[in-house]
Amino acid sequence: MDKKVVIVGAGLAGAEAAYQVAKRGINVKLYEMRPSKKAIAHHTDLFAELVCSNSLKSKAIDNAAGLLKKEMTSLDSLIMKMAYECEVPAGQALAVDREAFAKKITDVLKKNEFVEIIHEEFKEINLNDVTIIASGPLTSDDLSNSIKKILGEDYFYFYDAASPLVYKETIGNVAYKKSRYNKGGDDYINLPFTREQFFAFYNELIVAEKVELKKFEKMINFEACLPIEEIARRGYKTLLFGPLKPVGLEMGNGNKPFAVAQLRQDNQSDTLYNIVGFQTNLTFKEQKRIFSMIPGLDSAKFARYGVMHRNTFINSPKCLYSSLITKKNQNLLFAGQITGVEGYIESAATGIIAAINAVKIIEGKKIVKLPKTTMIGALLDYLENGNPYNFQPMNANYGVLASPIKDKQEIANIALNAIKKWSEENA
Ligand SMILES: Cc1cc2nc3c(=O)[nH]c(=O)nc-3n(C[C@H](O)[C@H](O)[C@H](O)COP(=O)(O)OP(=O)(O)OC[C@H]3O[C@@H](n4cnc5c(N)ncnc54)[C@H](O)[C@@H]3O)c2cc1C
Repeated sequence: MDKKVVIVGAGLAGAEAAYQVAKRGINVKLYEMRPSKKAIAHHTDLFAELVCSNSLKSKAIDNAAGLLKKEMTSLDSLIMKMAYECEVPAGQALAVDREAFAKKITDVLKKNEFVEIIHEEFKEINLNDVTIIASGPLTSDDLSNSIKKILGEDYFYFYDAASPLVYKETIGNVAYKKSRYNKGGDDYINLPFTREQFFAFYNELIVAEKVELKKFEKMINFEACLPIEEIARRGYKTLLFGPLKPVGLEMGNGNKPFAVAQLRQDNQSDTLYNIVGFQTNLTFKEQKRIFSMIPGLDSAKFARYGVMHRNTFINSPKCLYSSLITKKNQNLLFAGQITGVEGYIESAATGIIAAINAVKIIEGKKIVKLPKTTMIGALLDYLENGNPYNFQPMNANYGVLASPIKDKQEIANIALNAIKKWSEENA
């Protein structure tokens, strides 16, 4: 076998993966379609372009993004190294000068003797090559078709319509468990509204501030899966006959709530719940303000806010192992947002692990998996073991890590020790 790894996409994940493969002495063929073909959100020809915010989220260890960054640093992440070199003041967050950041990463890869850069659209996957697909949320059409041919049409999605996720332990005690008409087990957590609470919530929801959708995102047919605020704007009864329908959800004392929000378990360890039918385009600030008006969520902590945007991703629980190798073919790996992680640093983190395993494949060595006690390991475990029937992208959060320990500093210490040991033994 020709000892090279083909990497498609020089975004956050692909640039990180290229660096990681090259530093292990293996040749990389890095395909990037810009500048000849630009993904619609990108504006430059640079690698690792930050398409929107210039923040890589919190540096604080009690924040999941802070732990993830520390884990990445201990795995010698190029993205982290360059981010700290290009840091601009932003309180507890790690924000960067986006142009300097992308330029530095582009330079490092261009100067690397192991990295051959090909500015071309990569259209067809060749399963004879060890290949990491890191083409991101705006993967080109031809490549999407090639992926579909290999993984299957049904396992490939073009947009993301995710409801907010809350930490179970932060849900208030007005909640009661029940399935509609008592069919099935007491699987849902129900949050009952009085008439007054419902209208207070409804009146805020219909005037709340929304994220301005980009032109290409408006093409999405939302009719089958409308944002909650759009359902509300069609009249309050649309909510009462839709996501807040109270029938069949009488409380234990026989009381009939005016409306009920239902929360469904979202991870196997039972720490995260999604608000059913609450996919939304509201800004995160407005989601916090308005969804906290739902009885029982007044002190809730949100692990992820709802989103609805163009996002190409595969149904990883059906197609991928947590090693990031596809179930269909050992030579084909995925990294970045296309795997169903959400966010800049999450994407880059998967690039490290895909690279390590691509090198293992080339060298004929044993494939490695990260311990679930680490933030990266927990995210990768979610990719393999998330619910394939309702799979939605996930960002780093302490819920997905699912530790029985309450103290975040202690969880972080365990994670960082685990990643250090893992790295010494496997990376
Ligand atoms: C509009 C938008 C805004 C976002 N804002 C944020 C944010 O503010 N914060 C955040 O944390 N996350 C954000 N995300 C989510 C996500 O973190 C980013 O999309 C991130 O860039 C994903 O990294 P990636 O490496 O997977 O993909 P990308 O960074 O998009 O990299 C993929 C690369 O592959 C190239 N490519 C695609 N197809 C081909 C092909 N066939 N051949 C060759 N090259 C190809 C693209 O040109 C691109 O350079 C946003 C996503 C979108 C779509």
